[in-house]
This record gives sequence, structure tokens and C-alpha cells, in this order.
Amino acid sequence: MLTLGSTASESLLSKHSSTNFKIQLLMPKKIFQKEAPILRKMAVEISANSIKSPKIQKIIEEMKVALESQDDGVAIAGPQIGYPLRIFVVSKRIQDIVKESKSELTEDNKKYKTLATTVYINPVIKKISKKKMVVEEGCLSVRYLYGKVSRSLKATIVAYDENGKKFTRGATGLLAQIFQHEVDHLNGILFIDKAKHIEEILPKSVVSSK
Ligand SMILES: [Zn+2]
Repeated sequence: MLTLGSTASESLLSKHSSTNFKIQLLMPKKIFQKEAPILRKMAVEISANSIKSPKIQKIIEEMKVALESQDDGVAIAGPQIGYPLRIFVVSKRIQDIVKESKSELTEDNKKYKTLATTVYINPVIKKISKKKMVVEEGCLSVRYLYGKVSRSLKATIVAYDENGKKFTRGATGLLAQIFQHEVDHLNGILFIDKAKHIEEILPKSVVSSK
């Protein structure tokens, strides 16, 4: 079971400590783990005219807070925090990962530099390359397993943003991989259904507390 590191929760609390009410709203939601039935359900679409409703906006905020509470998280889908809705969020943190990795995808490295944390509502993969790549994958809902998954090298997605505006984004490499992993979540699929050579790699903090 995933536990929130004390430093992460402290920094959240100190940033938003003006009232108890705010603290409660911003406490990261629990991230459901692989046995949870909600992760196996088909998530439902959000009607375009309810995107700007307080209810959906609150869910988006909760998803961002939950994602940012995880040091290694790059994206999160609605079902992972208990909402069976077709929505996922990609962290701007992927810029750092692309920068650090010895990726040959230099064109994308440039593109990702300006990428903000992005919300994808009712995402549909419109184009996907036949060319595949075998990539290492993990998941916030499958602690702490990692495996090799075959993903398409390129993917183009159409979705609505948090303001209800429709947009198209093409991606190669890591972002294309994220699109495929997150859309799988919305269809009740986990990466361990597809992965080979699955192994458990515990983070140092978990190992030392055992
Ligand atoms: Zn995942």
C-alpha cells in the first residue's frame, strides 16, 4: 500500500494552512491499488457542458493534488482516485524526465519544455503508429511493480481541456506512452495485463522502513 511521504504532506499543509477547511480539501486523495474493482471498470464520458461545473473542477484539482503528491508520478487517471470518469492529467514533470533521459527524441524534448500540467477529458486516440517501442513502465496503482510494455512510438489524441475547449496533441516517445497507459486506465486495463518481465523494485524509503 502506498503511503504519503511526510515531507510531501507537510509542504502541502504549510502552503494551504490558512483554514482547516482548505487543508481537508487539499489533502491528497488515496490512490487505489490494483485489486480495487474501480480500476477494472469502463470509465464514462463527462458531458462537455459539465466540464466547467464546480463538481468536475474539484475532481480535476483533486487529481492534480494526488499526482503532485507522488514524487515519481507523471500522469493519473480519474479511476485511480475513485472517479470512474474519462479524464486524465499529465504532470509538467515529464519535462524533467525527458531532459534527464538519454532519449534521442530531440524534437520532442524541445516541445516538452513548454508543456504545463495538462488535463485530458474524454480523450480519444485518433492516430497511432504501427511502429512500436518496448518501454519500462510502472503505475501509481501498481506499487511497486515494473515491466516492459510494447507501446506505439507515436500517438495523436483529441480531448477537451479543463475549460471545455477541444484540442489535438500529437506525441512521440514518453508522452505517446503516457497517452496509451492512461487511455488503458479509462478502459479498465492495467499495464501488468500487457507487461513482460514484471519485477518488484521497492523505493529506498519503503525498503528502509521495513
Ligand atoms: Zn497507471
